This record gives sequence, structure tokens and C-alpha cells, in this order.
Amino acid sequence: MATQRIIDFLKTYRPEGPCLVVDLNIVRDNYLSFERALPRSRIFYAVKANPAHEILRLLVSLGSSFDTASLREIEMVLAAGATPDRISYGNTIKKERDIARAYSLGILLYAVDSIEEVEKIARVAPATRVFCRVLTDGVGAEWPLSRKFGCVPEMAIDVLRYAHKLGLEAYGVSFHVGSQQMDLTAWNRALADAADVFRNMEEEGITLKIVNMGGGFPIRYLKDVPTAQAYGMAIFDAMSDHFGNRMPETIIEPGRGMVGNAGVIRAEVVLVSRKAVNDAVRWVYLDIGKFNGLAETIGEAIRYPIRTPHDGGVVGPCVLAGPTCDSADVLYENLLYELPVSLSIGDELFIFGTGAYTATYASVAFNGFEPLRSYVI
Ligand SMILES: *Cc1c(COP(=O)(O)O)cnc(C)c1O
Repeated sequence: MATQRIIDFLKTYRPEGPCLVVDLNIVRDNYLSFERALPRSRIFYAVKANPAHEILRLLVSLGSSFDTASLREIEMVLAAGATPDRISYGNTIKKERDIARAYSLGILLYAVDSIEEVEKIARVAPATRVFCRVLTDGVGAEWPLSRKFGCVPEMAIDVLRYAHKLGLEAYGVSFHVGSQQMDLTAWNRALADAADVFRNMEEEGITLKIVNMGGGFPIRYLKDVPTAQAYGMAIFDAMSDHFGNRMPETIIEPGRGMVGNAGVIRAEVVLVSRKAVNDAVRWVYLDIGKFNGLAETIGEAIRYPIRTPHDGGVVGPCVLAGPTCDSADVLYENLLYELPVSLSIGDELFIFGTGAYTATYASVAFNGFEPLRSYVI
């Protein structure tokens, strides 16, 4: 799974400490696969997945647009060469002065999920476009986004009507089916809700233009996942079912699916020990944990593939933990991780599928451990 380029880079430069290496060739392949799988959709890369400058620059050159969540992300995308018309401010929770600043930078597309947020935008970013996010059930997602974002579809109608009344363009509906979504029917359920909002608004004389289908496209960790092609077909069929021949424009916002499989973390075994002499379970402590890159192991939600120098040998059950003095810094304990019995202190490990939601998820210096270093090649 790791590209030879990443392995060669690590062998040649031998950077000290745990680090992430991202291969731009894979990011490019992923972008092109999304384009092929969903040729009618505009791609807005979800910057939070990995905002590395080189990645943003590559995606700018490929023609991508960008979904951002903060002023800083907007600035990073602009610095990578994107024009403001290729940027959405997709966080439904924004300070009014940040909206004003985004507007002054030329951002014209905003996400909302409440009347209150519409009022902020109408005050400081007049006549811009807003799309309203609706809740989804998140079923089938390994990293669900819960009820934090979105409102029920009936309320989305009120929100969009109000936006229209305040002189904004009621532009469309968005949703996110939950990250690492394994169930192809999740988009179908969300699109049914979106189509409902479209119909209701149409009856009031307001024509919405876009459906923003968010992210959620999965990558392969330990289990196989449907291909981009399969997602594309499922989404196309669902769009036809719910919108018939009045197809709106669509947007997708892949984050994990764009960069997740392009990154590999190189880590080191700091200690292999047991809690009692005859315990069957070993504790394997790595130099990377929840606070310096592997936050998505919270709740053991994301289970990363790990390669060791002893692969192929006999394996046994391990608890896997990070290096800090916080007992929350345990990666896998409820479901033990099978690793070679010959694994020893000092061994180097490769952790795959770590291009998304790792480097920027690292704490600044908890316990004096540096944030995860990142190299883009
Ligand atoms: C995080 C996020 C995404 C990306 O989700 P993935 O599951 O990583 O593809 C897309 N859109 C919005 C609004 C997000 O918050």
C-alpha cells in the first residue's frame, strides 16, 4: 500500500522521530478518480483533512475547489493560488467578524444550519449564496458527525426562506453522511431529504440550484471498501430517483477519500512489556499516539493497518498505546491488535492510511512531544 516513493524517501532521509509522508502522485490519482466517478459534480476538497501547502497547490492546479472551515483555511487556500470563487466557507458555526473578513477576501458561498447564522451573513456578507445543511442519521459511518451540524429538513425550508427574504441567494442544500461511510445507501437517504426541501422551496417560488453532498467517501484501512466508481453510480442513481429530469448541480467535498491513502506514518516501538509475567497480552508503546497524530483512534473508531519488520511470523494479541503520560493515550485495547511475537524495542513500523486527519490533529507539545512532522513528496 505504501508507495515505493515513500519507502525510498524514508530510507534515504531517515528523518528523526515519528513522521508522516504524503505522496502527491496518489492525491492526484484520487482527484482524477473522483472526477471520473462523479463527472457532473464539482469537487471541493475538504481542507481540514490535510491542509499541507503542496497538497493545496496540486489540487489548485488540477482544477479543484475547496471547502474551508475557518479564516486561516481560507487564507491557506488563497496562498496556494485558488481564486475566491473556488472556496466555500462550509462551517455552519462562524464568528460574524470572520464572515466579514471572508467576504472582504471575496468569499461568496457560505454554509448555514440556523436562522441565527443567516442573520450574521446577511449583515456582513450581503447578497452572497448560502446553502443549508440538513441532518443525516450517520448510520454506516465509522466516524459519524453526529448531530452537531445540520437541522431537520423542515427547518431547512424556514432557514432558506429567511435567507431569501434577507436578500441572500438561497442556493441549495448540503449534508454529510458521516466520515468513512461504508454504506452506499446513505447518500440515497440524504438525497431524498434534500429533494424534499427543493420541492417545498419550488412551491414557494424559490428555485434552489445545488446539492452539496459533502464527504464521507471511505478509504481502505483493514477492510475492503466500495470503489469510487461504485459510489458514483449509487449517487447518480439516487439523484435520478429523487430529482428525475430536474437535476440540480452537485458538489462533493471529499477529505479522507482525497488524501487518506496517500500518507504513511513511520513510527518506532518504544517499549514492549506485560502487566504480569504470564500475561498473554503484550503492551506495545509507540512514539506516536492520540496526541501527536492518531486522534482518530478515539473510541477505536479508525483502525489503521500497521506493517512491521516481522510480518509473516507468528502473531499475538497486543494493546497498542502512545508515548504520553495520559492514560487516554491508548490506541487499541478493547479490540486487541495482533502483532508479531518477535516485535521488539526500536523496531520501525509503518502505519498506513494516515494522510488525512493526522498531522493537524496533533497537539502542540503535550508532555513535550512535538506535533507530527509531515513531508509531502
Ligand atoms: C470534514 C468535512 C468533509 C470531509 O469529510 P470526509 O469524510 O473526510 O470526506 C466534507 N464536508 C464538510 C462540511 C466537512 O466538515
